[in-house]
Amino acid sequence: MYPAEFAYVRPTGLDGVFAAIERYADDVKVVAGGQSLLPMMKLRLATPGVLVDLAGAGELRGQWSTTDGVRVGAMTTYRELQRSPRTLDLLPGLEETLALIADPQVRARGTIGGAVAHGDPTADLPAMLLALEAVVLLASPRGIRRRPLDEFFTGVYSTDLAEDEVVLAIDIPQPPPGTGAAYQKYEQPASHLALCGVAAALTIGGGRVHRARLAMTGVAATPRRLTALEEALTGTQVNAKAFDEIAVTAVHGVEPLDDMHASAAYRLQLLKLATREALQIAASRAGAGWAA
Ligand SMILES: Cc1cc2nc3c(=O)[nH]c(=O)nc-3n(C[C@H](O)[C@H](O)[C@H](O)COP(=O)(O)OP(=O)(O)OC[C@H]3O[C@@H](n4cnc5c(N)ncnc54)[C@H](O)[C@@H]3O)c2cc1C
Repeated sequence: MYPAEFAYVRPTGLDGVFAAIERYADDVKVVAGGQSLLPMMKLRLATPGVLVDLAGAGELRGQWSTTDGVRVGAMTTYRELQRSPRTLDLLPGLEETLALIADPQVRARGTIGGAVAHGDPTADLPAMLLALEAVVLLASPRGIRRRPLDEFFTGVYSTDLAEDEVVLAIDIPQPPPGTGAAYQKYEQPASHLALCGVAAALTIGGGRVHRARLAMTGVAATPRRLTALEEALTGTQVNAKAFDEIAVTAVHGVEPLDDMHASAAYRLQLLKLATREALQIAASRAGAGWAA
């Protein structure tokens, strides 16, 4: 399948990107790695008249230390992140999540900004970014605003991004000492997209959970935090029986997707299973003596 005819521009710098977005207004789409947008254009699910390539905007590239963690530019590819030991050392769980995304070709082109802006309910990286409490930086000619990632996704392929905004960067705080993280994914075998993915970041001390951050993807309309589960876990003793009982809480309030890839009931089963596994692995990585 070929996409509908479109024009292509590659402005230099963010101001050039903003000017192009304003000029072509309703008929424009920005493109980053093109790993989601181009397939959608080939299927004619997206038919922008003009593609504005973000590759010429140097402001969107790079990784910087912040007072509490790391800022990752939106055009940073999955592979660039995989090759950043400094960032990976600070952010447990990231390396494992990146390795489970698609294949080397997709990881070489796909970007962190695209993964977030696309609003795909099955994307992997947003789940781990939610568990790490990431914040999205959105830039427009009006300035820069910060939006916690757990307030950014609004529905299937829908986000809080305004028409004149681009994702500039993602701020990811370093979790407290004693945090272990894990990402467990059950995937659709052809696309590798998640039928269910659960990211867990557990901070453990004295045999108890001090802080729990969990998020899921692939199950509902958006990747989202599992806040009821986080609350149930806080203060809990670290042992298999307690975790197994609490993992059931993951499904509370979840309205599962039901489609040709998996039924709603199956997705909820996977959610309980992936949650239990992610909790166990995160706890053992946090250094808690895991009592099976
Ligand atoms: C074969 C295949 C397998 C895949 N498997 C997986 C998988 O297992 N797990 C997974 O998570 N993903 C998977 N993907 C999707 C992949 O991760 C995408 O690359 C990613 O979701 C989008 O990143 P991108 O840079 O390619 O964005 P693009 O495709 O360029 O853009 C996607 C959307 O985001 C917008 N956008 C991009 N960047 C910005 C920005 N900075 N500011 C504002 N808007 C922006 C675009 O306008 C577009 O609407 C797969 C893709 C393919 C082709």
